[in-house]
Amino acid sequence: MVKIESDNTKCPNCGKPVYADIFEVETNTNIPTEAGFHTVCNDNFPFEETCHLDYSTAIELDKKVYQWLAMNTRKIPL
Ligand SMILES: [Zn+2]
Repeated sequence: MVKIESDNTKCPNCGKPVYADIFEVETNTNIPTEAGFHTVCNDNFPFEETCHLDYSTAIELDKKVYQWLAMNTRKIPL
């Protein structure tokens, strides 16, 4: 679970920080694939509930999380 340390990427529903629950990464770069993570606002997921967002809100949030992950989790700095 990776905490997204960004002031403009928070859960649109509850306003809490969000976390990426990563299950697939690109082996070359260590960046999660675009469909390789879930965005949750609970660091104890799946044992506790996280907010359920509507589809378009979830897509927007996933995009921001993906960009953050791409900048912050790659093995080799840009
Ligand atoms: Zn939330």
